[in-house]
Amino acid sequence: MMRVVPGGGAGACGVIKFSCNLSSLIHNFQSLNHMQNRLNSTEENECANCGNSFHGNFCNNCGQKIIKRFTGIYLWEQLREDVIGLESGLVHTFKELWISPGRMISNYIRGATKQYYSPLKYLIFWTAAYLISVQLLNRAEQNPDFLKSLLLHSNKPFSSEAFADFLLFFTWFMEQKSDFYFLGIIPFLAASCYIFFRNKNFNVTEIVIFFTYFYGQFAFCVMAVNLFDLIPTWRDMKFSSSIILILFSLLFFRMIKQFFNESWKVAILKGSGVSLLGTAMFWSLLFLVFNGIKYFVLLFWD
Ligand SMILES: [Zn+2]
Repeated sequence: MMRVVPGGGAGACGVIKFSCNLSSLIHNFQSLNHMQNRLNSTEENECANCGNSFHGNFCNNCGQKIIKRFTGIYLWEQLREDVIGLESGLVHTFKELWISPGRMISNYIRGATKQYYSPLKYLIFWTAAYLISVQLLNRAEQNPDFLKSLLLHSNKPFSSEAFADFLLFFTWFMEQKSDFYFLGIIPFLAASCYIFFRNKNFNVTEIVIFFTYFYGQFAFCVMAVNLFDLIPTWRDMKFSSSIILILFSLLFFRMIKQFFNESWKVAILKGSGVSLLGTAMFWSLLFLVFNGIKYFVLLFWD
């Protein structure tokens, strides 16, 4: 038999009643919200981008988001989403690329692209940052007519003198236009990497994605080292290029190791092979282009 205790019963009932009211209040609020959402989503929108009619906040044909009007708040939201957002944010991608580059790039390649900054955007961002750091350092270009004088030199193309000219050109290219050098070598390293790791079943495009992220990360490293060079005593010690070389190797072998799921030994051996073959291919092409231009210049100059 159940004994009813009046006082306790009243108290419990009070609590229950209160919580009932609260939960119904929340329920009402939720259904109100729900109705509001339903109202929003039943409203037919015409896509400003492709003209498709759809319900909801995104076009189901092209993915365009509805933008009623551009406001300061909207721009701020966009910027925040782009830089620190967990979905496709720059900071998130940057962090993941340091912590676990292999997993991050593999995720991207198997199609989970939404949560990351796209490889090209990533590379362009850090290359721009690097170029700004170069501007800050204000390294004066030595002898702006250098390239012209080398090309107009009367040394015959493909001759041994022209080879010496090519080496001069190459040193100039590496020192003065290192950004072009590092961007230009990407397809060659990717082709070389494809050859060395063809048993891993990646296609060339997937490997280009790998190198694009890699060079984004490397451009960040070079920029950071450049910023240290703003300190005169540090700059005078001329450590920077050795540090950049060490960073390049560490970053490169670690990324290769994780991405292709190899041991350190294989990563370093094959990674060095990739680097050597890619560089050789790039230099050969530069050599051909340099002498080809020289050939035509001499042909039309006389
Ligand atoms: Zn659309």
